[in-house]
Amino acid sequence: MKETDHKIFVTQPTLPNLDEFVGALTQIWGSKRITNIGQFHQEFEKQLTVYLGVKYISLFANGTLALMTAIQALGLVGEVITTPYSFVATAHSLWWNKIKPVFVDVDPVYGNLDSDKIEKAITEKTTAILPVHVYGNPCEHDKIKAIADKHNLKLIYDAAHAFRVEENGNSILNYGDLSILSFHATKVFNTIEGGAIICHDEQTKQQIDYLKNFGFAGETSIVAPGINAKMNELQAAYGILQLKAFKDHVKKRQEISFKYRELLKNIKGIRCLEDVDHVSHNYSYFPIFVDKNYLLTRDELYHKLKDNNIFGRRYFYPLISDLSIYKALPSAKHSNLTKAKKMAEQVICLPIYPELEHIYTKKIVSIIIDNYNDKKLSTNLSHFY
Ligand SMILES: *Cc1c(COP(=O)(O)O)cnc(C)c1O
Repeated sequence: MKETDHKIFVTQPTLPNLDEFVGALTQIWGSKRITNIGQFHQEFEKQLTVYLGVKYISLFANGTLALMTAIQALGLVGEVITTPYSFVATAHSLWWNKIKPVFVDVDPVYGNLDSDKIEKAITEKTTAILPVHVYGNPCEHDKIKAIADKHNLKLIYDAAHAFRVEENGNSILNYGDLSILSFHATKVFNTIEGGAIICHDEQTKQQIDYLKNFGFAGETSIVAPGINAKMNELQAAYGILQLKAFKDHVKKRQEISFKYRELLKNIKGIRCLEDVDHVSHNYSYFPIFVDKNYLLTRDELYHKLKDNNIFGRRYFYPLISDLSIYKALPSAKHSNLTKAKKMAEQVICLPIYPELEHIYTKKIVSIIIDNYNDKKLSTNLSHFY
């Protein structure tokens, strides 16, 4: 087997240094405190507020519980405007809160909720807007906030992809009433499983902390109908170690992204996303969009990569609004969501993670380029490496 014959997946989790993690575990074993907002949980929250440049953060067992709890904390009911172009947890969290998702189309370039189409979807039952910073690219917050303010709606960002993304030097996690993060193994920053809610004031943080721990305010005092959604000590200790290497991980992801973009830039029918002005990105995903000008269909290319042991993912396909759970909703009809549908039909996320070696980026690009048999492009490729 050649070295490049290994299976390459869309991502591979980066793990903390094992000896350091064993050191933290030894401390936990000594204290016997393995959960219930212990020392590591408190310390990780403290470090994250500084590291992310946010005021208050509350740690969760995973991102979905964080989102479900955020919706509870704001007391949302009725209808919430959201995007069909996301991971299923975005809409499912509404469903678990008995809220009807109202799908609005996305902008055709980055795939974020189209701020010009939100207002038309507002009804008397609308209580909030739930946009997603897809692939970590910031939504048009100023416009969305103006609409939310005008109609007295709450605003929650599903920022599961936006760990440490900044716009004009300010964390985009500060946008909205609340933002949620996911630290799942497949995300740019992981605590195995994990998540968080970011908020702006101490009172809201206190309420969220009650909600994630059964509503316990004291041994016999239960002040809210809470759930059990808190992060445990092992996850928190692991997360603290992960912070140390994050900047370096982003730098490696950036190098891979730039390499992909450079190599793919003249390939007819393949579109990559560009960096956004004044944004410091985390390079969490590398989506490409395959259109009719490419020699293969999106799915043919996806399977061709697979046949070559390259396991890209079609994030986000199918659209959430096409799932049987949601497709009967009036807002789920395709004529309402043409841009989202097109993106879902064109996207493949290529493998990207800090330890992905250049030999594989090169292999992946050559599989994509191969169809052209174009000497000039192959020469390009060899020069690049
Ligand atoms: C991963 C993800 C979630 C859910 O997070 P988990 O930690 O896996 O529960 C929610 N929304 C989006 C957009 C995601 O990508």
